[in-house]
Amino acid sequence: MKYWKKLPHQSLQTRIEQALKENVDFEKDTSLGYPASKLDDKVFYSDAPFLKDAPTLKTYVANPNHIGCHTYGSSESAFKGTQEIEREVLRVLAVDFFKMEDEQFDGYIAPGGTEANIQAIWVFRNFFNHHFDASNDEIAILASEDTHYSIPKASNLLNLDLLQAKVGFDTREIDPEALRSMIEEAVSNGKKYFSVIANMATTMFGSVDNPDVYTDILESMDLEYKLHIDGAYGGFVYPFSNLKSAVNFSNPKISSITIDAHKMLQAPYGTGVYLSRKGLIENVLTKEAEYVEGMDLTLCGSRSGANAIAVYMILFTYGPYGWYEKISILQMRTDWFCKQLDHLSIPYFRNEHMNIVTIYSSHIPQDIAEKFDLVPEQHNENNKWYKVVIMDHVEIDNLLQLIDALKERMKIA
Ligand SMILES: *Cc1c(COP(=O)(O)O)cnc(C)c1O
Repeated sequence: MKYWKKLPHQSLQTRIEQALKENVDFEKDTSLGYPASKLDDKVFYSDAPFLKDAPTLKTYVANPNHIGCHTYGSSESAFKGTQEIEREVLRVLAVDFFKMEDEQFDGYIAPGGTEANIQAIWVFRNFFNHHFDASNDEIAILASEDTHYSIPKASNLLNLDLLQAKVGFDTREIDPEALRSMIEEAVSNGKKYFSVIANMATTMFGSVDNPDVYTDILESMDLEYKLHIDGAYGGFVYPFSNLKSAVNFSNPKISSITIDAHKMLQAPYGTGVYLSRKGLIENVLTKEAEYVEGMDLTLCGSRSGANAIAVYMILFTYGPYGWYEKISILQMRTDWFCKQLDHLSIPYFRNEHMNIVTIYSSHIPQDIAEKFDLVPEQHNENNKWYKVVIMDHVEIDNLLQLIDALKERMKIA
């Protein structure tokens, strides 16, 4: 770990207060040109005593705007203090989490994983447009059946066809033969460029795609492609539960990664992360954005700088060892739960490195699923799966209640 460490609360607080001082202070400075201010002080008191020890809340009240991208060119200088913290967060994620070389990344804290995925596909589309003069109907998005619905959303918005590879029902693994014939058919229909989205944990199963399945086939057919990893779900888990993971920037074929801090990291909503290699993000430059200082390279415009502070606070409060311990505890609980299911001969899918267990619905009575708020794969009578996500608040005692309810029902049956 080069940049990520555990820091005491006092250092974090000092660092953030310093950063806020480097921003425009709407209360004290004369700033006449921005359609921005601190939060309304009739509603959000800036002098409340508890704010003193709560750097994230203090930043919410100060209300810095992190509009734009702060890893490329210049940015809005009014908020340079907290923008620097966003850059620090991105550096930890790119270099320490995902093995990027120093300063070789671009990225930003997006409103969520959906936007980060759309941004990635937008960057790839324009890259193909600019470098190969590709028309949109020559470009296809490639993903699996288990891919998050933000990818169909991107396909619709960006006017690109989406091809979804079949996965095995029990293994949730992409079937390479079916994938190859799907690509062959696409090529015969005029597709030449492929934006691949591989999952580093799908939302429903926690299954992790092997990106080589895609790239081996595309390379054997001499096709142009770009590869994005959707780590919205697993980005804060998988690199720690599987220390041998190669799903990161050490694989030169991976161009960009989405991670959601508002899922497993328990940051506030509004903290998706888009990270890419240098040389890509400028493909989505909006030249018309002239009133904003610096270049406009993001899908969203204004966004709260407090979100970057929230992620910074969590990362540096835990540090790498603290975070590893937290993930290990979730893994232990998940192992325990799987063992209980094994005893009851209840079949399920689990990736051994993930904290999601997806159970065959045939073995879960519907009323029990509802009582425990298990999420179905489909909200209709065709549903075949229910998932349990072992989060921070899901302790063994909670899991035990579900196991007991299932045992009880089996006795009666
Ligand atoms: C949740 C999720 C997303 C979308 O993220 P939001 O933050 O809800 O926009 C994308 N991909 C995967 C795999 C997800 O789990």
